Amino acid sequence: MFDPTDRILIPISGGKDSAVLAYFLSRIERRFPSQVFGVVFDEGIPGLSNYKVDVAKKVASICNISIKCVSYAELFGETLPTIASRVSEKLNLSACSICSILRRRAIDIIAKELSIDKIAIAHNLNDVVETALLAFLRGDEFNLVRLFSDICEEIRPRRVRPLMLIPEQETALAHHILNLPRLLVECPFSSRSMRRRVKRFLYIIDTEHPGSLYSIFWSIYRTAKQISIRPSYKTTCKNCGFPSRKPLCQVCEILTLV
Ligand SMILES: [Zn+2]
Repeated sequence: MFDPTDRILIPISGGKDSAVLAYFLSRIERRFPSQVFGVVFDEGIPGLSNYKVDVAKKVASICNISIKCVSYAELFGETLPTIASRVSEKLNLSACSICSILRRRAIDIIAKELSIDKIAIAHNLNDVVETALLAFLRGDEFNLVRLFSDICEEIRPRRVRPLMLIPEQETALAHHILNLPRLLVECPFSSRSMRRRVKRFLYIIDTEHPGSLYSIFWSIYRTAKQISIRPSYKTTCKNCGFPSRKPLCQVCEILTLV
């Protein structure tokens, strides 16, 4: 996933997975000329974002990496709750979906600013399988193929998922043993997301049939490799210039309605 001289960006969310990823990756990369940077986003969610930024800073300090803190208000002009309240209904997108579209862009902006080569996403096995099933449920094969950066050569900087073969219980165990900090409050928007339902479904399946997550993972991986449509950012957004599949990218579509 990495080259020895990579400049690596880890988005730190305050959750256990990004803390575990930052911990191990920063230690591994010490042996190389590569550089690891952290970034945390303040979405402006009351009772969550401030606490999350504090946790991310603690994680960065333990891992001895520099961390950049950027707010959605700085990047997009408004906080997530404001954007979601004005746009959710019009675009039929949950706050969670809006947040993830904006977060993706926010990561790209910071990656560009820091001349990043690889973005290390802290998705564990469960997350990757969930995202893939969601892509199936939404009929979005692009998101499915995008999960596996080794078959997505065209996207730069490349997103890699070093924890993608580690089940969630194991990252949780590592987090506990290492006694890393963690955000204890839950995002007020998360309960409304479809992802949560998929998560529950996968939990039941994998409990009753252990090993199912790996089976699903490898089926999806092989399927994604066979899909002939390669994600291609041939066009750029007419408004912001970022790569986009449509004339107006999703971020601009959201922000023009705020
Ligand atoms: Zn745009």
